[in-house]
Amino acid sequence: MINQERIKNLLLELVRIDSVSRKERDVAERIKQICEEMGAEVEIDDAGEKVGGNTGNVIARFAGTIPGAEPIMMSAHMDTVVPGEGVKPIVDGDIIRTDGTTVLGGDDKSGVAVIIEAIRCLHEQSIPHAPIDAVFSICEEVGLLGAKHLDLSKVRAKYGIVFDSDDPGFLFTKGPSANHFEFKIFGLESHAGVAPEQGISAIRIAAEGLAAMKLGRIDDVTTANIGVIRGGEATNIITNLVSLRGEARSLDEDKLNAQTEHMIKCLTDAAEKYEVTVEGVTTRGRVESEVTREYYAMDVPDSSRVVQLVLGAASRMNLEVRTLASGGGCDANIFNRKGIECANLGTGMRAIHTVKEWLDVKDMYASAEMTLEIMRLNGEMARGTAEG
Ligand SMILES: [Zn+2]
Repeated sequence: MINQERIKNLLLELVRIDSVSRKERDVAERIKQICEEMGAEVEIDDAGEKVGGNTGNVIARFAGTIPGAEPIMMSAHMDTVVPGEGVKPIVDGDIIRTDGTTVLGGDDKSGVAVIIEAIRCLHEQSIPHAPIDAVFSICEEVGLLGAKHLDLSKVRAKYGIVFDSDDPGFLFTKGPSANHFEFKIFGLESHAGVAPEQGISAIRIAAEGLAAMKLGRIDDVTTANIGVIRGGEATNIITNLVSLRGEARSLDEDKLNAQTEHMIKCLTDAAEKYEVTVEGVTTRGRVESEVTREYYAMDVPDSSRVVQLVLGAASRMNLEVRTLASGGGCDANIFNRKGIECANLGTGMRAIHTVKEWLDVKDMYASAEMTLEIMRLNGEMARGTAEG
């Protein structure tokens, strides 16, 4: 059994420590201290320097008690979204929320608390276990930057669990690839009243391109959105520049590529319809497209060791955990790409990224109990392998 009072108090302590992305140092130092007191060898990598933050990822290596057992990773991110400074958690029975001026930061400090509590219990109850690499990342919320820059030489594990989703009854094993778009549409500036025929409106091109563009839910595994549009200075100027920012995601790489090409083509086709010649100089509408890959899809099979562990532990507890696909990305997308096979287990966080964020501690307790059972089962399997 886990210690409910202790994990709740740890969560309350952690959410009170400010740690918006790139400013995670205070919480990183606290987590480092806790893990060292628990006997881990703790290092902070140089990811912070690479991303302009004030600390790197915290990597706490805990020794195992089973000779020859393979290390397992447990990971959660330390950063929160804004508004996330000065969190005043309000405890109302089993529900923890904020005063409505900030997020709670249960995303993902509940994950941090689950990991630490589970390891404490392994130690206290002398449960045989494999070595554990606890990875507490920075800058998950601003493009998975901590995971992307994680110093892998400090991590031994080749598989593990990320604790960064809501319902402990779900294990996310699939997640999309995502592209980020920056489009610049160029027209030709001219006076709207005096010489409209000598201008090309970038706003018009953007409108036509967007009207032709498939957006929203494209198919059962693909989504796309234009989220920002900017352009124009005055009503009497034909606008020569509009910028658009958007994204597309898909579980299927080919479908993501097709959607990306489709979006570029819609804008390019619209731009190419416009051409003016002024004093012998011909100008055409044109589009500059910048596509960056945010992250790659993850697809962990049900037969994988980590999924079998989680499902096995759940069934021993008479709980049902279902694997499913997420529409978003998390550190697990990056870890899988880096060769650490991992899935994302829920911790109880709700209404995340809003000032209404809340958490039912019973969910967090369930997540921690399951994690303890996962580590116990993992130890039994490792011993079985070692002895067999
Ligand atoms: Zn998160």
